Amino acid sequence: MKKVDILIIGQGIAGTVLSHQLIQKGYSVFVIDHKKVNSASRIAAGVYNPIAYRKLKRAEFVEFLLPSMQDYYGKLQKELNVSFFKPSSFLKLLTDIEELNNWQIQCAKESNTSYMSKTIFTSNFNHGIKNEIGAGQVLNSGVVKIPTLIEAWQKRLIESHRFSSGPFNYSDLEFHTDGIHYSDMCYEKVIFTEGVGVSKNPWFNWLPIQKFKGEVLEIHAPNLELDRMINRGVFLLPLGNGYFKVGATHDWRKVDEVITTEGRLELTDKLDKFINVPYTVVKHEAGLRPAARDRHPYIGVHPENNRLFVFNGLGSKGVIMAPWLVTKFIEGLDSFEWPPEFDIKRYIRFFNDSNTGHEKN
Ligand SMILES: Cc1cc2nc3c(=O)[nH]c(=O)nc-3n(C[C@H](O)[C@H](O)[C@H](O)COP(=O)(O)OP(=O)(O)OC[C@H]3O[C@@H](n4cnc5c(N)ncnc54)[C@H](O)[C@@H]3O)c2cc1C
Repeated sequence: MKKVDILIIGQGIAGTVLSHQLIQKGYSVFVIDHKKVNSASRIAAGVYNPIAYRKLKRAEFVEFLLPSMQDYYGKLQKELNVSFFKPSSFLKLLTDIEELNNWQIQCAKESNTSYMSKTIFTSNFNHGIKNEIGAGQVLNSGVVKIPTLIEAWQKRLIESHRFSSGPFNYSDLEFHTDGIHYSDMCYEKVIFTEGVGVSKNPWFNWLPIQKFKGEVLEIHAPNLELDRMINRGVFLLPLGNGYFKVGATHDWRKVDEVITTEGRLELTDKLDKFINVPYTVVKHEAGLRPAARDRHPYIGVHPENNRLFVFNGLGSKGVIMAPWLVTKFIEGLDSFEWPPEFDIKRYIRFFNDSNTGHEKN
């Protein structure tokens, strides 16, 4: 039986970055993914942004997440010879005088100068965009085209016989003294990166994952010229040739992946507040973000089986989080030591309750 170090279940952004970094570090790896068309990674806009828009403050952990991801994706796109990483600056349309004042206070702080520009665009800087109060510039932001990255890396995995397309059957895992057997291979470790699919995982379904529904639109607005993303309640992201992505809704009450009229109207109502050119909606998608209860992703080892691991709960921050967190995760693979704010040990009570039949609360 062929021996392999690590089996990874799921190749969204998590499984992609994880398998890539493991191979870089010399591990042998095999990946299984059933290519769900509307997985979070496949419908995400892939935007990263160092500012929390609601409070106009620096996002948590950004001082180390940002340099790590910029370095990682920059090198990876060279290695794969595909273009998926687009560093840029974004425009944040300010909605009222209070928000404008807040922007001016925040951008004057030393700790925010790398992320918020002091220049406010006050005129109508762009045909088609209504700019009533002013627009601040968010620096050091950008986009990772996640589907392009996933496809390019999957091609490499396939070429090196490290990928299988199809569903992973949890009940076919066999535990032996020499390792874990699955489909004629023997693995040292299995790492689950299934996004919201973790709720079907018999070893990790006790983790409190919130399925955070998001809907996005693609529009065609041939008269709108925009060279970078703009945000005012929703983002408007240029895709080229007059096409734009608009998103996203956040709905924690619904846990389905169905597109809704309500979601579409929410997005177009917000969009109509800041664009004044005609457009048509050409695509509408819905998906589920795998979010952790405290908004810090979940990494760690199973409490009773030290060959089984999980990496999940990236929430709305898959792009910016994955590279740094994967590095930390791999560092702890043998010692089982991870930063406590991400280690699943913090929710061990849910595992204990699941064994005694208590509900998550
Ligand atoms: C509408 C929307 C917009 C978003 N926009 C952004 C954004 O702009 N920027 C950002 O950073 N994040 C964004 N996100 C969040 C981001 O998409 C997630 O953080 C990230 O994609 C999660 O990645 P993942 O790899 O953990 O999970 P997923 O992307 O869900 O990947 C899991 C993979 O596991 C596979 N899988 C699951 N179970 C099995 C099984 N049993 N057998 C085989 N394969 C299996 C699935 O096929 C899938 O490919 C958005 C999410 C949504 C829904």
